[in-house]
Amino acid sequence: MSHSEGQSRQYAPPGIGRERQRHADRADLDVDRGGEPQLDGAGREDERPGDEVVGWIGARGGDEADGECAEREHPERDHRRNIHAANLARRTARIAAPAAALCAIAACQTQLDDVDGAFYDGDGRLVHCGVNLDTSANTAIDAVDLALDRARNRGQVVELYAHHPGDTVPVSKIEHVLAAARDRGLRFVTYDDFARSSDAVAGLALSFDDTAIDAWFSLRPLFLKYEARVTFFVSRYGFVGPAQRDELHELADDGHAIEAHSVLHLRAPEYVEQHGLNAYVREEVDPSIAILRNEGFDVQAFAYPFGARTGELDRAIAKRVPVLRSVAFTYAMIGDPCPR
Ligand SMILES: [Zn+2]
Repeated sequence: MSHSEGQSRQYAPPGIGRERQRHADRADLDVDRGGEPQLDGAGREDERPGDEVVGWIGARGGDEADGECAEREHPERDHRRNIHAANLARRTARIAAPAAALCAIAACQTQLDDVDGAFYDGDGRLVHCGVNLDTSANTAIDAVDLALDRARNRGQVVELYAHHPGDTVPVSKIEHVLAAARDRGLRFVTYDDFARSSDAVAGLALSFDDTAIDAWFSLRPLFLKYEARVTFFVSRYGFVGPAQRDELHELADDGHAIEAHSVLHLRAPEYVEQHGLNAYVREEVDPSIAILRNEGFDVQAFAYPFGARTGELDRAIAKRVPVLRSVAFTYAMIGDPCPR
């Protein structure tokens, strides 16, 4: 259990009632596994079928992992494309059709620079889509470098995210990304920036999700070293202790954006199915924005837990904040994370 999560148990979220507690109990099951290692330790991917990254299908056994996402030894892109295509075809033949379709939009994580949804090109989109840097997502560092190359070459913002530095993602990987962005002359863009300008620049929008606030704060020297500005999408703010709230304020004062990531980190479409759209907005969206704004944070964006969204949800939440963030790959149970 992380320090912040341990602290959190001492603080009751505001307005929690019997219904909320019921969802809180459920949240322990539905929590974003990638962001809550205390509930689902990194490296235990086999135990998390519900949130399986579809890109992993067929890629966890040795040969395909070597041939695909761990395939880093071959410098030529075309060669990798061929391997990827072959793996995709094999996978597609083996798995159910809906999953195959999802796999196609997930793309191979080594082909990150081909995942158009992860690049903001100035189209003024409502729903932004990030690519996961966590170790469990198998996003190879050379793939990230190629994505940063594309951002520089095409004048686009590449969107990447992670959860818990030092746990779900190595700090060295974060530093590599920051250094690589700086070396390419990329601008650091926050989701607050997206809300203020629809212009595309050659940039990097790096974000961190959930509640690992102490670990985020520990990156502050790196952020200062690379003059990086990033975004923190905070869930369960009602459980966050005073020390961590102070850390978030310091990060905001440094120029980072503090944005909303729901109250209890539930799957929105399932919640809507059970309780209705208005209930989700009332229970999970509005309070997560209000509690941050009441603390003085200028909330301009909302990130969907698990990237689980629908057009109906987009339209409702867009009345609250101008920018939404989802994911550019997908989990097995999430149908349409990136609407393009
Ligand atoms: Zn999350």
